Amino acid sequence: MGVDTDSITIDEQQIFTALETTTEDAVRVREVLKKALELKGLGAADATALMCVESPELLEELFDAARRVKDEIYGRRLVLFAPLYVSNLCSNDCTYCAFRRGNPEVHRRALNQEEVANETRLLIDQGHKRILLVAGEAYPKEGLEYIFKCIETIYGVKSEWGEIRRINVNIAPLETDEFRALKECKIGTYQLFQETYHRDTYLKVHLAGKKRDFDWRISAMNRAMEAGIDDVGIGVLFGLYDWRFEVLALMQHVAQLEERFGVGCHTISVPRIEPAVGAELSEHPPVPVTDMDFRKLIAILRLTVPYTGIIMSTRENPEMRRETFALGVSQISAGSRTNPGGYSEEDYEMSQFSLGDHRCVDEVVRDITSMGYIPSFCTGCYRMGRTGQDFMDLAKPGLIKHYCEVNAMSTFVEFLEHYASPETKEVGDALVEKIFNEMPEGQRKRAESLVSEVRCGKRDVYV
Ligand code: SAM
Ligand code: SF4
Repeated sequence: MGVDTDSITIDEQQIFTALETTTEDAVRVREVLKKALELKGLGAADATALMCVESPELLEELFDAARRVKDEIYGRRLVLFAPLYVSNLCSNDCTYCAFRRGNPEVHRRALNQEEVANETRLLIDQGHKRILLVAGEAYPKEGLEYIFKCIETIYGVKSEWGEIRRINVNIAPLETDEFRALKECKIGTYQLFQETYHRDTYLKVHLAGKKRDFDWRISAMNRAMEAGIDDVGIGVLFGLYDWRFEVLALMQHVAQLEERFGVGCHTISVPRIEPAVGAELSEHPPVPVTDMDFRKLIAILRLTVPYTGIIMSTRENPEMRRETFALGVSQISAGSRTNPGGYSEEDYEMSQFSLGDHRCVDEVVRDITSMGYIPSFCTGCYRMGRTGQDFMDLAKPGLIKHYCEVNAMSTFVEFLEHYASPETKEVGDALVEKIFNEMPEGQRKRAESLVSEVRCGKRDVYV
């Protein structure tokens, strides 16, 4: 029997009732935190109890639990990627986005394939191995084929020491057959944010175009998964509506995906609205999320869905990014530009939104290395077929860590050998030695063997 692809239902009343009837309760919060440390995730009532935490002492306990879960599951690695904006053509009118149709302040363009290849080369030369392809919801005359061509072009670019090994994609929702064709292009994760799960707010901020249809968007992951894309990434654009509602609704979305497909989402993104040229609402988000609530929501997500990656973009400034690594973030973008052609040109005016972190990849790598994290450029799981349910089957009993840390080390050393500045190489080599010394015997042997292959000039080695 086919899967009913139309219905993801958000029970708004259930969320409002939970939020109205729950207050801070230290005994209950400590019970929930104890349960979270078993790494089996939390339900909606548990998450609601954590959302009510305000007192400094309990907040610290919440953050401490999130740090422990993050450390237990993800250890010291942080995965790096960069977005590649191929086009800002768009037929929608999202009031927060510079690419919204009719915005006269943005010069419209879709990169041609030569320009896509140039941008890719620049990203490879910074050391990137995985990118997120991003586009507005309107394509040049060849339609969706344009995106497929871009993917082919990106995978086809080879530079002396590198190439892009995984392309994740953030484009508008597709029909099931179109998703099948997208999967054929060998994408990694299909990513799409609901923006807000609150239906009335959704209608207020999406004024025109296909994106105005809430149900078409919320059911996109059903179609993607039915088409065989088993790594999907969801998210909320924080600042449109109450963050507590959004997190509880997102949990309902994940639960329904799990129920239908046996696996929820692979990643969750947590963008906050940033100022965007010609997009009035972005200057005054209706329900801004404070820095403290932002930390809280990341910690709660970490405890609620411990095996789901949390992605932090360069919308946030370096200080906030640093803090959230410990609280739960497992993937970060670095050196990003959010306009088509942004890596070749310095035209910030055309960006989709303004960035909080302008540092280049080398600086970000040096910074996170000096904090003790291993920057990982690994693309091993996806290429070994460890995706969807297979990934979760390894992740849940804690087995994925054995692959991840070793692959993080080999790809980090690849970066240090070919792309790092002398200062970054020095800090990086010291961290690699330190980590070898701390690894259990078996893992150390495997990591040392991969790293020595890389140091002898071999690339793209992984387990
Ligand atoms: N056009 C497609 C869509 O809307 O799903 C995909 C690309 S869109 C450029 C990617 C994401 O950028 C959106 O889902 C939205 O969450 C985010 N975004 C848009 N305007 C933003 C702003 N002012 N600040 C932060 N993020 C923003
Ligand atoms: Fe277009 Fe996406 Fe921007 Fe909306 S968020 S205007 S759909 S690019």
